[in-house]
Amino acid sequence: MNYNYKDIVPYLLDWYDLNKRILPWRDQNNPYYTWVSEIMLQQTRVEAVKLYFERFITELPTIHALAAVDEMRLLKLWEGLGYYNRVKNMQKAAIILVEEYSGKMPADYEALLKLPGIGSYTAGAISSIAFSIPVPAVDGNVLRVTKRIAASFDDITKPKVKKELEEDLKKIMPERAGDFNQSLMELGATVCIPNGKPLCDKCPVMHLCNAFKTGKELMIPVKPKKKPRKVEDKTILIFSKDNRYTIRKRPDKGLLPGLWEFLSLDGHYSMLKLEEELDSKGIHNAKITSLGEAVHIFSHVEWNMKGYMIHLDNQLLKEPIVYSDSLEDELFSGCIWVSKEDINEKYTLPSAFSAYKNVI
Ligand code: SF4
Repeated sequence: MNYNYKDIVPYLLDWYDLNKRILPWRDQNNPYYTWVSEIMLQQTRVEAVKLYFERFITELPTIHALAAVDEMRLLKLWEGLGYYNRVKNMQKAAIILVEEYSGKMPADYEALLKLPGIGSYTAGAISSIAFSIPVPAVDGNVLRVTKRIAASFDDITKPKVKKELEEDLKKIMPERAGDFNQSLMELGATVCIPNGKPLCDKCPVMHLCNAFKTGKELMIPVKPKKKPRKVEDKTILIFSKDNRYTIRKRPDKGLLPGLWEFLSLDGHYSMLKLEEELDSKGIHNAKITSLGEAVHIFSHVEWNMKGYMIHLDNQLLKEPIVYSDSLEDELFSGCIWVSKEDINEKYTLPSAFSAYKNVI
């Protein structure tokens, strides 16, 4: 369905001037800040991003600093935000920016698009917000708002639908391109909200919105039903001795690549079954405490976890414990023993393990 979005522009800009939220990265005229905040906002609420953003920018205030930081520290700064490939790609892009653009972001949509981890949305956001280049920035918020305004039943998960919207918006981009893009995003975040009924009586374009006029606002946007997530049961084990705990590095490929984790067994173990398992590994009469149950939802998988702390203070292990590096033992293969401070300050454990990290 064709809709000419030109009419909504002045209403949205006026509304944005009066209603935009004050955010640490907004109105700073710093393309690096726009880049960092846009990547963080792809996965996390604005309120939470404020804290992550301040911490990240304080430690890595420039593209040069981002390019040079040790990866382990970089992942630690991203801990809690998830989607760690995004920050790894940011570092790859930063290295290119240092080598080819003297550590500055180019004021060029096509050049931005060639950088690792930067797609049409992020390139559009940086170009328009930081450099006033008249290009759209279409994300899920913008798709929802515009499709409601047009009363369009297009499937918004189709790349073709996004591409066509980008073309339509490109034709009507005003001089204040960055503010216009942000007004659409802001309307989507605060008024034309994703879950539940949009707040149409607060909307500056209500009189131009076809979904509102026809009472279809809750039917739009259209997305195909997601496949149900795969559910995996896991038993999380934290071994403890002398105030040290076992963690190990995950493989460099697959889910949560290269991050650290607590040991786990597939399936759910009762205390009795776990005692038997430990017995078979030569650990007898260890004190075991339950750490309770936790659930973590990834985009395609759900972990249902039961956790146990296994206190080894009274145990004579086959091998002496090496506190700094790896302990090569059948049971603890690949593990290192670390303090609570190490876990808090040095090693990145994904938020899937938060429930258990917090009980140490
Ligand atoms: Fe969204 Fe309602 Fe505004 Fe239409 S009138 S854009 S449905 S908030």
